Amino acid sequence: MTHSDDSGFATRAIHAGFMPDPVTGAVNVPIYASSTFAQDGVGGMRSGYEYARTGNPTRTALEATLAALEGGRFGRAFASGMAATDTALRTLLRPGDHLVIPDDAYGGTFRLIDKVFTHWGITYTPVAVNDPDAVRAAVRENTKAVWIETPTNPLLNIGDIAGIAAITREAGIRLVVDNTFASPYLQQPLALDADVVLHSTTKYIGGHSDVVGGALVTDDEELDAGFAFLQNGAGAVPGPFDAYLTMRGAKTLAVRMDRHCDNAEAVVDLLLGHPAIAQVLYPGLPEHPGHAAAARQMRRFGGMISVRLAGGRDAALDFCSRTKIFTLAESLGGIESLIEHPGAMTHASTAGSALEVPDDLVRLSVGIEDIDDLVADLEQALA
Ligand SMILES: *Cc1c(COP(=O)(O)O)cnc(C)c1O
Repeated sequence: MTHSDDSGFATRAIHAGFMPDPVTGAVNVPIYASSTFAQDGVGGMRSGYEYARTGNPTRTALEATLAALEGGRFGRAFASGMAATDTALRTLLRPGDHLVIPDDAYGGTFRLIDKVFTHWGITYTPVAVNDPDAVRAAVRENTKAVWIETPTNPLLNIGDIAGIAAITREAGIRLVVDNTFASPYLQQPLALDADVVLHSTTKYIGGHSDVVGGALVTDDEELDAGFAFLQNGAGAVPGPFDAYLTMRGAKTLAVRMDRHCDNAEAVVDLLLGHPAIAQVLYPGLPEHPGHAAAARQMRRFGGMISVRLAGGRDAALDFCSRTKIFTLAESLGGIESLIEHPGAMTHASTAGSALEVPDDLVRLSVGIEDIDDLVADLEQALA
């Protein structure tokens, strides 16, 4: 590794994980398109690699980068955020166990727990992550983990990571933080005593909407061994090209996030006084109920904004159909601005459940285009 652990975030993002190749001097990790690796005699590994489901050098470089970004000891890369979620859940839980989840969790996370894990004897309780008393009250004798997102998707509620970690420590259970919305540049949950950090690297870490991936980072050797066992044993691994693209994206995370935050702040200013907008949900606003906790644990407040339209569901759908630069699409965290209607799109699976999202809600992923163009686009779409 070329960095020392105390180097700054942007330095680590660029240099952790790969040193210039000793043979060729290449400054970027090669895409090792090899599924198998020659052995020096039976059982004699030449390079530490034998088969690419178990390990591939491009993936190893990404995993070292992911660990460095979160300031953690161990990083594991997966084929998607959901594959990382599935791996974490199967490592932490056994039949009969109970899990606490956000009452506005990402729709795919909720769907996996509600539609798959319940068939394997797992029960769960949805709670408001911004209410530590509710989290504490939801922990039962058979609870093995508390799973939070902060900010949450799509309502941008804030969980106090250190406060919730104090509850899970006392109960002797694990805290998993889905850090996808903040990115490791804005928030580092392991330093706040979380046990596991999860990312959909599809979003800010990859950052260019060109690759799907997931990550788990932990300081706990035993948990990491469980993640590695399932990574190899179940095989939800990223290919070397995906690993390369994710690593390439991660190098610019710091500069991209600062621009995402600058642009989001300007968009919030536009939306706040706008007659078409009933409510702006953004943790950077002093009136946001999670503002104090967000200010303690986040460097800045991120590039995601949700709004509730004064005109209800029809106005929300209309807004989504009228933007020209903000592309109507699922996903988030890429360089391009996106707009979506969570109730009908990303969070449709929550309909009729305790996690159902309001139908007048629109979610914006503010990209890094010229801010004047973004503001003009939103102004014409809301006119
Ligand atoms: C997108 C997302 C996921 C799932 O990740 P994929 O890469 O799409 O599988 C999990 N959590 C959050 C908060 C997300 O936004």
